[in-house]
Amino acid sequence: HDPDIGRLFKASELSVRLASPTQLQPKPDVDDLAFGKYFTDHMMKAFYHKSLGGWQKPEITPLESLVLHPAAKVLHYAVELFEGMKAYRGVDGRIRIFRPEMNMHRMNVSAKRSGLPTFDGVEFTKCLSRLVSIDQEWVPHTEAASLYLRPTLIGIDPTLGVASSDSALLYTILCPVGEYFKPGSSGAVSLLADPRYTRAWPGGVGDRKMGSNYAPTIHVQKEAASKGLQQVLWLYGEDHQLTEVGTMNIFMFYINDNGEKELITPPLNGLILPGITRDSILSLARQWGRFKVNEASFTMPQVCQLIKEERLLELFGTGTACVVSPIERIHYLGEDILIPTMEQSKPVFDEVKKALTDIQYGKVDHPWAMII
Ligand code: PMP
Repeated sequence: HDPDIGRLFKASELSVRLASPTQLQPKPDVDDLAFGKYFTDHMMKAFYHKSLGGWQKPEITPLESLVLHPAAKVLHYAVELFEGMKAYRGVDGRIRIFRPEMNMHRMNVSAKRSGLPTFDGVEFTKCLSRLVSIDQEWVPHTEAASLYLRPTLIGIDPTLGVASSDSALLYTILCPVGEYFKPGSSGAVSLLADPRYTRAWPGGVGDRKMGSNYAPTIHVQKEAASKGLQQVLWLYGEDHQLTEVGTMNIFMFYINDNGEKELITPPLNGLILPGITRDSILSLARQWGRFKVNEASFTMPQVCQLIKEERLLELFGTGTACVVSPIERIHYLGEDILIPTMEQSKPVFDEVKKALTDIQYGKVDHPWAMII
Protein backbone atom coordinates (compact mmCIF):
# COMPACT_ATOMS: atom_id res chain seq x y z
CA HIS A 1 0.00 0.00 0.00
CA ASP A 2 1.26 3.44 -1.00
CA PRO A 3 1.09 5.61 2.18
CA ASP A 4 0.59 8.66 -0.05
CA ILE A 5 -2.92 7.41 -0.84
CA GLY A 6 -4.09 7.86 2.77
CA ARG A 7 -6.91 5.76 4.18
CA LEU A 8 -8.41 2.86 2.23
CA PHE A 9 -12.10 1.98 2.12
CA LYS A 10 -13.49 -1.21 3.60
CA ALA A 11 -16.53 -3.26 2.64
CA SER A 12 -17.69 -3.21 6.30
CA GLU A 13 -18.30 0.57 5.91
CA LEU A 14 -20.56 0.07 2.90
CA SER A 15 -23.90 1.87 3.16
CA VAL A 16 -26.89 0.83 1.09
CA ARG A 17 -29.66 3.07 -0.20
CA LEU A 18 -32.12 0.88 -2.10
CA ALA A 19 -34.15 2.02 -5.09
CA SER A 20 -37.80 2.69 -4.31
CA PRO A 21 -40.33 0.32 -5.92
CA THR A 22 -41.19 2.99 -8.53
CA GLN A 23 -37.50 3.32 -9.50
CA LEU A 24 -37.12 -0.39 -10.31
CA GLN A 25 -36.67 -1.04 -14.02
CA PRO A 26 -38.31 -3.86 -15.95
CA LYS A 27 -35.87 -6.61 -16.92
CA PRO A 28 -35.28 -6.90 -20.67
CA ASP A 29 -35.81 -10.05 -22.69
CA VAL A 30 -32.67 -12.21 -22.89
CA ASP A 31 -32.92 -12.14 -26.70
CA ASP A 32 -32.72 -8.35 -26.69
CA LEU A 33 -29.55 -7.88 -24.68
CA ALA A 34 -27.40 -5.61 -26.86
CA PHE A 35 -24.09 -5.10 -25.05
CA GLY A 36 -24.22 -2.39 -22.40
CA LYS A 37 -27.70 -1.11 -23.25
CA TYR A 38 -29.61 -2.05 -20.09
CA PHE A 39 -28.47 -1.31 -16.56
CA THR A 40 -29.54 -2.78 -13.24
CA ASP A 41 -31.28 -0.85 -10.49
CA HIS A 42 -28.23 -0.11 -8.34
CA MET A 43 -24.64 1.07 -8.55
CA MET A 44 -21.71 1.34 -6.18
CA LYS A 45 -19.65 4.46 -5.53
CA ALA A 46 -16.58 5.37 -3.49
CA PHE A 47 -15.12 8.87 -3.54
CA TYR A 48 -11.49 9.69 -2.94
CA HIS A 49 -10.48 13.09 -1.61
CA LYS A 50 -6.86 13.68 -0.73
CA SER A 51 -7.90 16.74 1.29
CA LEU A 52 -10.14 14.52 3.46
CA GLY A 53 -7.42 11.95 4.10
CA GLY A 54 -8.07 9.40 1.35
CA TRP A 55 -10.90 7.05 0.39
CA GLN A 56 -14.36 7.84 1.77
CA LYS A 57 -16.94 5.24 2.82
CA PRO A 58 -18.32 3.27 -0.13
CA GLU A 59 -22.04 3.32 -0.88
CA ILE A 60 -24.58 1.42 -2.94
CA THR A 61 -27.28 3.68 -4.36
CA PRO A 62 -29.98 3.52 -7.01
CA LEU A 63 -28.47 3.88 -10.51
CA GLU A 64 -28.25 7.63 -10.96
CA SER A 65 -26.49 10.27 -13.03
CA LEU A 66 -23.21 11.74 -11.85
CA VAL A 67 -22.70 15.43 -11.24
CA LEU A 68 -19.26 16.60 -12.41
CA HIS A 69 -17.68 20.02 -12.65
CA PRO A 70 -17.12 20.85 -16.34
CA ALA A 71 -13.38 21.14 -15.60
CA ALA A 72 -13.22 17.59 -14.16
CA LYS A 73 -9.98 16.05 -15.40
CA VAL A 74 -11.70 12.98 -16.78
CA LEU A 75 -13.57 15.20 -19.27
CA HIS A 76 -10.40 16.85 -20.62
CA TYR A 77 -7.48 14.46 -20.35
CA ALA A 78 -9.33 11.14 -20.22
CA VAL A 79 -8.09 10.44 -16.68
CA GLU A 80 -10.09 7.22 -16.64
CA LEU A 81 -9.67 3.48 -16.46
CA PHE A 82 -12.07 0.58 -16.18
CA GLU A 83 -12.50 -3.15 -15.88
CA GLY A 84 -14.75 -5.72 -17.47
CA MET A 85 -15.85 -8.80 -15.56
CA LYS A 86 -18.93 -10.99 -15.37
CA ALA A 87 -21.21 -12.67 -12.86
CA TYR A 88 -22.62 -16.01 -14.05
CA ARG A 89 -25.63 -17.89 -12.72
CA GLY A 90 -24.42 -21.45 -12.38
CA VAL A 91 -26.31 -24.65 -13.12
CA ASP A 92 -26.79 -24.93 -9.32
CA GLY A 93 -28.43 -21.49 -9.19
CA ARG A 94 -25.47 -19.93 -7.38
CA ILE A 95 -23.79 -16.80 -8.76
CA ARG A 96 -20.06 -16.83 -9.51
CA ILE A 97 -17.50 -14.26 -10.58
CA PHE A 98 -14.37 -15.36 -12.40
CA ARG A 99 -10.89 -14.64 -10.96
CA PRO A 100 -11.87 -11.19 -9.59
CA GLU A 101 -8.44 -10.73 -7.97
CA MET A 102 -6.98 -10.53 -11.50
CA ASN A 103 -9.31 -7.64 -12.40
CA MET A 104 -8.50 -5.90 -9.11
CA HIS A 105 -4.78 -6.20 -9.75
CA ARG A 106 -5.08 -4.96 -13.34
CA MET A 107 -7.24 -2.05 -12.20
CA ASN A 108 -4.74 -0.96 -9.54
CA VAL A 109 -1.88 -1.15 -12.05
CA SER A 110 -3.94 1.02 -14.44
CA ALA A 111 -4.69 3.45 -11.58
CA LYS A 112 -1.01 3.84 -10.78
CA ARG A 113 -0.20 4.56 -14.45
CA SER A 114 -3.01 7.17 -14.53
CA GLY A 115 -1.92 9.00 -11.39
CA LEU A 116 -5.15 7.88 -9.70
CA PRO A 117 -5.42 6.43 -6.18
CA THR A 118 -5.10 2.67 -5.71
CA PHE A 119 -7.39 0.71 -3.38
CA ASP A 120 -7.69 -2.62 -1.56
CA GLY A 121 -8.88 -5.10 -4.19
CA VAL A 122 -10.19 -7.61 -1.64
CA GLU A 123 -12.42 -4.95 -0.05
CA PHE A 124 -13.61 -3.71 -3.45
CA THR A 125 -14.46 -7.28 -4.50
CA LYS A 126 -16.57 -7.64 -1.33
CA CYS A 127 -18.43 -4.43 -2.25
CA LEU A 128 -19.00 -5.76 -5.78
CA SER A 129 -20.34 -9.05 -4.40
CA ARG A 130 -22.79 -7.10 -2.27
CA LEU A 131 -23.88 -5.02 -5.27
CA VAL A 132 -24.43 -8.13 -7.40
CA SER A 133 -26.37 -9.85 -4.62
CA ILE A 134 -28.65 -6.81 -4.27
CA ASP A 135 -29.31 -6.90 -8.03
CA GLN A 136 -29.16 -10.71 -8.20
CA GLU A 137 -32.43 -11.05 -10.08
CA TRP A 138 -30.63 -9.29 -12.95
CA VAL A 139 -28.19 -12.17 -13.34
CA PRO A 140 -29.85 -14.02 -16.23
CA HIS A 141 -31.25 -17.49 -15.52
CA THR A 142 -29.57 -18.99 -18.57
CA GLU A 143 -26.19 -20.10 -19.76
CA ALA A 144 -26.68 -17.94 -22.84
CA ALA A 145 -26.23 -14.73 -20.85
CA SER A 146 -24.52 -13.20 -17.83
CA LEU A 147 -24.25 -9.97 -15.85
CA TYR A 148 -21.41 -7.68 -16.96
CA LEU A 149 -19.69 -5.62 -14.25
CA ARG A 150 -18.07 -2.36 -15.24
CA PRO A 151 -15.87 -1.00 -12.42
CA THR A 152 -14.69 2.49 -13.42
CA LEU A 153 -12.26 4.98 -11.87
CA ILE A 154 -12.23 8.65 -12.94
CA GLY A 155 -10.25 11.74 -11.94
CA ILE A 156 -12.72 14.44 -10.90
CA ASP A 157 -10.55 17.37 -9.75
CA PRO A 158 -12.24 20.52 -11.09
CA THR A 159 -8.94 21.96 -12.34
CA LEU A 160 -7.47 22.03 -15.84
CA GLY A 161 -3.83 21.33 -14.99
CA VAL A 162 -2.41 18.21 -16.60
CA ALA A 163 -1.53 16.77 -13.21
CA SER A 164 -2.59 13.91 -10.99
CA SER A 165 -6.11 14.23 -9.67
CA ASP A 166 -6.46 14.76 -5.91
CA SER A 167 -10.05 13.57 -6.05
CA ALA A 168 -11.47 10.58 -7.80
CA LEU A 169 -14.60 8.49 -8.07
CA LEU A 170 -14.61 4.72 -8.20
CA TYR A 171 -17.97 3.39 -9.30
CA THR A 172 -19.50 0.24 -10.74
CA ILE A 173 -22.50 -0.27 -12.96
CA LEU A 174 -23.96 -3.61 -14.05
CA CYS A 175 -25.55 -4.73 -17.34
CA PRO A 176 -27.17 -8.02 -18.29
CA VAL A 177 -25.49 -9.16 -21.51
CA GLY A 178 -26.39 -11.89 -23.97
CA GLU A 179 -24.32 -14.22 -26.06
CA TYR A 180 -21.75 -12.38 -28.06
CA PHE A 181 -22.83 -14.12 -31.24
CA LYS A 182 -26.33 -14.66 -32.44
CA PRO A 183 -27.35 -18.29 -32.00
CA GLY A 184 -27.11 -20.14 -35.29
CA SER A 185 -24.27 -18.10 -36.71
CA SER A 186 -20.94 -19.91 -36.71
CA GLY A 187 -19.51 -17.07 -34.68
CA ALA A 188 -16.41 -16.92 -36.88
CA VAL A 189 -15.25 -13.36 -37.57
CA SER A 190 -13.56 -11.56 -40.45
CA LEU A 191 -10.86 -8.98 -39.75
CA LEU A 192 -9.34 -5.86 -41.24
CA ALA A 193 -5.54 -5.85 -40.84
CA ASP A 194 -4.29 -2.44 -41.99
CA PRO A 195 -0.66 -1.72 -41.04
CA ARG A 196 -1.29 2.04 -41.26
CA TYR A 197 -3.01 1.85 -37.85
CA THR A 198 -1.38 1.12 -34.48
CA ARG A 199 -3.23 0.41 -31.24
CA ALA A 200 -0.26 0.39 -28.87
CA TRP A 201 3.48 1.09 -28.89
CA PRO A 202 6.48 0.49 -26.62
CA GLY A 203 6.46 2.83 -23.65
CA GLY A 204 2.76 3.58 -24.16
CA VAL A 205 -0.24 2.34 -22.18
CA GLY A 206 -1.65 -0.35 -24.49
CA ASP A 207 -1.13 -2.82 -21.66
CA ARG A 208 -3.37 -0.82 -19.31
CA LYS A 209 -7.16 -0.71 -19.41
CA MET A 210 -7.44 3.05 -19.85
CA GLY A 211 -10.35 4.63 -21.70
CA SER A 212 -7.89 6.68 -23.76
CA ASN A 213 -6.81 3.48 -25.57
CA TYR A 214 -10.29 2.84 -26.93
CA ALA A 215 -11.53 6.13 -28.42
CA PRO A 216 -8.98 6.07 -31.28
CA THR A 217 -10.08 2.55 -32.29
CA ILE A 218 -13.66 3.56 -33.15
CA HIS A 219 -12.78 5.13 -36.48
CA VAL A 220 -10.78 2.05 -37.54
CA GLN A 221 -13.57 -0.28 -36.44
CA LYS A 222 -15.97 1.79 -38.58
CA GLU A 223 -13.64 1.43 -41.54
CA ALA A 224 -13.60 -2.36 -41.04
CA ALA A 225 -17.40 -2.40 -40.90
CA SER A 226 -17.66 -0.33 -44.08
CA LYS A 227 -15.64 -3.08 -45.84
CA GLY A 228 -18.00 -5.74 -44.46
CA LEU A 229 -15.44 -6.91 -41.89
CA GLN A 230 -16.34 -7.46 -38.25
CA GLN A 231 -13.26 -6.57 -36.25
CA VAL A 232 -9.85 -4.94 -36.48
CA LEU A 233 -6.67 -7.01 -36.30
CA TRP A 234 -4.11 -4.71 -34.68
CA LEU A 235 -0.66 -4.98 -36.24
CA TYR A 236 2.59 -3.54 -34.95
CA GLY A 237 5.98 -2.82 -36.47
CA GLU A 238 7.67 -3.08 -39.85
CA ASP A 239 7.23 -6.85 -39.76
CA HIS A 240 3.44 -6.57 -39.12
CA GLN A 241 3.26 -8.46 -35.82
CA LEU A 242 -0.23 -9.56 -34.81
CA THR A 243 -0.95 -8.01 -31.40
CA GLU A 244 -4.68 -8.09 -30.58
CA VAL A 245 -8.01 -8.42 -32.33
CA GLY A 246 -10.72 -5.85 -31.53
CA THR A 247 -10.75 -5.87 -27.73
CA MET A 248 -9.44 -9.41 -27.50
CA ASN A 249 -6.09 -11.12 -27.19
CA ILE A 250 -5.08 -13.34 -30.12
CA PHE A 251 -4.03 -17.00 -30.23
CA MET A 252 -2.73 -19.16 -33.07
CA PHE A 253 -2.74 -22.97 -33.11
CA TYR A 254 -0.35 -24.33 -35.71
CA ILE A 255 2.29 -26.90 -36.58
CA ASN A 256 5.71 -25.53 -35.66
CA ASP A 257 9.03 -26.02 -37.46
CA ASN A 258 9.62 -29.26 -35.53
CA GLY A 259 6.30 -30.66 -36.75
CA GLU A 260 4.67 -30.29 -33.30
CA LYS A 261 1.27 -28.75 -32.61
CA GLU A 262 1.72 -25.49 -30.73
CA LEU A 263 -0.56 -22.85 -29.21
CA ILE A 264 1.02 -19.42 -29.37
CA THR A 265 0.01 -15.92 -28.22
CA PRO A 266 2.06 -12.69 -28.20
CA PRO A 267 4.06 -12.06 -25.00
CA LEU A 268 3.19 -9.34 -22.47
CA ASN A 269 5.77 -6.96 -23.95
CA GLY A 270 3.87 -3.71 -23.28
CA LEU A 271 1.76 -3.83 -26.45
CA ILE A 272 -0.70 -6.39 -25.13
CA LEU A 273 -3.52 -6.02 -22.61
CA PRO A 274 -2.88 -8.76 -20.03
CA GLY A 275 -6.19 -10.54 -20.58
CA ILE A 276 -7.59 -12.72 -17.85
CA THR A 277 -9.03 -15.09 -20.46
CA ARG A 278 -5.57 -15.18 -22.09
CA ASP A 279 -3.90 -16.06 -18.79
CA SER A 280 -6.53 -18.71 -18.03
CA ILE A 281 -6.18 -20.38 -21.45
CA LEU A 282 -2.38 -20.47 -21.17
CA SER A 283 -2.66 -22.01 -17.75
CA LEU A 284 -5.25 -24.65 -18.75
CA ALA A 285 -3.40 -25.61 -21.94
CA ARG A 286 -0.12 -25.98 -20.02
CA GLN A 287 -1.88 -28.25 -17.51
CA TRP A 288 -3.36 -30.36 -20.32
CA GLY A 289 0.13 -30.82 -21.75
CA ARG A 290 -1.21 -32.19 -25.03
CA PHE A 291 0.53 -29.63 -27.24
CA LYS A 292 3.24 -27.01 -26.89
CA VAL A 293 2.25 -23.66 -25.40
CA ASN A 294 4.33 -20.59 -26.14
CA GLU A 295 4.27 -16.82 -25.61
CA ALA A 296 6.02 -15.33 -28.63
CA SER A 297 5.39 -12.74 -31.34
CA PHE A 298 4.28 -13.80 -34.81
CA THR A 299 3.81 -11.79 -37.99
CA MET A 300 1.49 -11.58 -40.99
CA PRO A 301 4.15 -12.87 -43.42
CA GLN A 302 4.53 -15.92 -41.11
CA VAL A 303 0.75 -16.43 -41.03
CA CYS A 304 0.64 -16.30 -44.86
CA GLN A 305 3.54 -18.77 -45.15
CA LEU A 306 1.97 -21.18 -42.62
CA ILE A 307 -1.28 -21.14 -44.58
CA LYS A 308 0.60 -21.92 -47.81
CA GLU A 309 2.25 -24.88 -46.10
CA GLU A 310 -1.09 -25.97 -44.56
CA ARG A 311 0.43 -25.67 -41.07
CA LEU A 312 -1.93 -23.02 -39.70
CA LEU A 313 -4.82 -24.73 -37.92
CA GLU A 314 -6.69 -22.04 -35.95
CA LEU A 315 -6.67 -18.35 -35.15
CA PHE A 316 -8.95 -17.01 -32.42
CA GLY A 317 -9.50 -14.00 -30.17
CA THR A 318 -10.11 -14.29 -26.43
CA GLY A 319 -11.79 -12.04 -23.88
CA THR A 320 -14.40 -11.80 -21.15
CA ALA A 321 -17.13 -10.70 -23.58
CA CYS A 322 -17.08 -13.72 -25.92
CA VAL A 323 -14.66 -16.14 -24.17
CA VAL A 324 -13.26 -17.17 -27.59
CA SER A 325 -14.00 -15.88 -31.05
CA PRO A 326 -12.79 -17.99 -34.02
CA ILE A 327 -11.33 -16.10 -36.99
CA GLU A 328 -12.15 -17.18 -40.55
CA ARG A 329 -10.78 -14.41 -42.76
CA ILE A 330 -8.26 -11.55 -42.70
CA HIS A 331 -8.29 -8.70 -45.20
CA TYR A 332 -4.61 -7.72 -45.48
CA LEU A 333 -2.88 -5.52 -48.08
CA GLY A 334 -5.83 -5.78 -50.46
CA GLU A 335 -6.12 -9.57 -50.24
CA ASP A 336 -8.50 -11.90 -48.44
CA ILE A 337 -6.64 -14.52 -46.44
CA LEU A 338 -8.79 -17.50 -45.53
CA ILE A 339 -8.07 -19.07 -42.13
CA PRO A 340 -9.12 -22.73 -41.70
CA THR A 341 -10.22 -22.32 -38.03
CA MET A 342 -13.73 -23.67 -38.70
CA GLU A 343 -12.48 -26.63 -40.74
CA GLN A 344 -10.78 -28.46 -37.84
CA SER A 345 -12.63 -31.51 -36.54
CA LYS A 346 -11.95 -30.99 -32.81
CA PRO A 347 -10.79 -27.38 -32.62
CA VAL A 348 -8.80 -26.13 -29.65
CA PHE A 349 -10.86 -22.92 -29.52
CA ASP A 350 -14.00 -24.97 -28.75
CA GLU A 351 -12.21 -26.99 -26.14
CA VAL A 352 -10.90 -23.97 -24.22
CA LYS A 353 -14.30 -22.29 -24.46
CA LYS A 354 -15.98 -25.31 -22.94
CA ALA A 355 -13.36 -25.63 -20.20
CA LEU A 356 -13.78 -21.97 -19.21
CA THR A 357 -17.57 -21.83 -19.38
CA ASP A 358 -17.81 -25.09 -17.38
CA ILE A 359 -15.93 -23.31 -14.58
CA GLN A 360 -17.89 -20.05 -14.95
CA TYR A 361 -21.31 -21.73 -14.89
CA GLY A 362 -20.36 -24.08 -12.05
CA LYS A 363 -20.42 -27.36 -14.00
CA VAL A 364 -17.06 -28.14 -12.46
CA ASP A 365 -15.68 -26.88 -9.16
CA HIS A 366 -12.64 -24.72 -9.61
CA PRO A 367 -10.79 -22.16 -7.45
CA TRP A 368 -11.12 -19.60 -10.27
CA ALA A 369 -14.88 -19.33 -9.68
CA MET A 370 -15.73 -17.18 -6.66
CA ILE A 371 -19.24 -17.83 -5.35
CA ILE A 372 -20.86 -14.66 -4.10
N1 PMP B 1 -7.45 -6.80 -25.17
C1 PMP B 1 -8.12 -5.65 -25.00
C2 PMP B 1 -7.64 -4.43 -25.70
C3 PMP B 1 -9.25 -5.63 -24.16
O1 PMP B 1 -9.93 -4.48 -24.00
C4 PMP B 1 -9.68 -6.81 -23.54
C5 PMP B 1 -10.91 -6.81 -22.67
N2 PMP B 1 -10.56 -6.56 -21.33
C6 PMP B 1 -8.94 -7.99 -23.73
C7 PMP B 1 -7.83 -7.94 -24.56
C8 PMP B 1 -9.33 -9.28 -23.08
O2 PMP B 1 -9.12 -9.24 -21.69
P1 PMP B 1 -9.96 -10.15 -20.70
O3 PMP B 1 -9.69 -11.56 -21.09
O4 PMP B 1 -9.42 -9.83 -19.35
O5 PMP B 1 -11.38 -9.77 -20.87
